[in-house]
Amino acid sequence: MEIKDEKMLKPNEYVDIKIKIQNLISAYKSVNDKNVVNVLKQDTFALGTQYGIDETNEWKQLVQIVDSVSCSHQNAEKTLLDLESLVNAFEIPSHKQIEKLFKKIKKVPDFESETVNLYEASYLGINDTGNAKKFLILPDRNGKLHGVTGDFDIQIVNGLCAVCQNIGNVSLFSTKVKQRGADGNYVKRGNYICRHTDECNRQLIELEHLYDFTDSVTKV
Ligand SMILES: [Zn+2]
Repeated sequence: MEIKDEKMLKPNEYVDIKIKIQNLISAYKSVNDKNVVNVLKQDTFALGTQYGIDETNEWKQLVQIVDSVSCSHQNAEKTLLDLESLVNAFEIPSHKQIEKLFKKIKKVPDFESETVNLYEASYLGINDTGNAKKFLILPDRNGKLHGVTGDFDIQIVNGLCAVCQNIGNVSLFSTKVKQRGADGNYVKRGNYICRHTDECNRQLIELEHLYDFTDSVTKV
C-alpha cells in the first residue's frame, strides 16, 4: 500500500492560502455587503478542497477560527502557522550541490546561512549589492534546480516582477545564456524581478511564471 506523503502543500499554495485568508479578514472589516463577504469566504474555504487538505485538523481549525467576522489578522496569522506542518518546505541544496549548481563561479554566497522562510520559498535568491549581482537557485518545470547568476542593477524601480507578477520594487536582472554546442555564443536576457526574493516568494502564487523565468535565463 502506498503511504500518502504527509506534506501536502507546496510553498506557493501555502502563500495563496495566507494571502486569501488575510484578504478575507480585511473584507470583514471593510466590506458592508454580506453577500460579497460570503462569496469571498466560500472561495477562500474552497482552497482546502482544491489543495487536498480539507480533511486535516490544521485546516479545520483554521476555518473554524477564520469563519468568525471578529477574527483579527494576528489571530489568523497565528493559526496559519499551524499549516506549516503540511508544507513541503523548499530544501536548500547541500554545500556540494550548490558548488555544482554554480560551476565556474568562484565566490558563491552562503545560501545555507541565509534566513529564509522555507515554507514560503519557491526559489532562492541572494543579492550581492557590492558587486551589483544576484545569485538565484531556480527550479524548472521538471523539478530540476538551476544555479543562475547575473548583473542586478542597483537602481530600484516600481514595476512588474517577471516571477511573481506583482507590481513592486524591482530591478533589472540580466544574464548571459550560452548557446548549446556553440563556442562562446551567448544570448543576453534581461528581466525585471523583485529586489528582495523573500518579498517575491511571499506573493508568488503561479509557478508557471517562475518556470518561464527559469527557462528564459537557462535556455536559448
Ligand atoms: Zn516578484
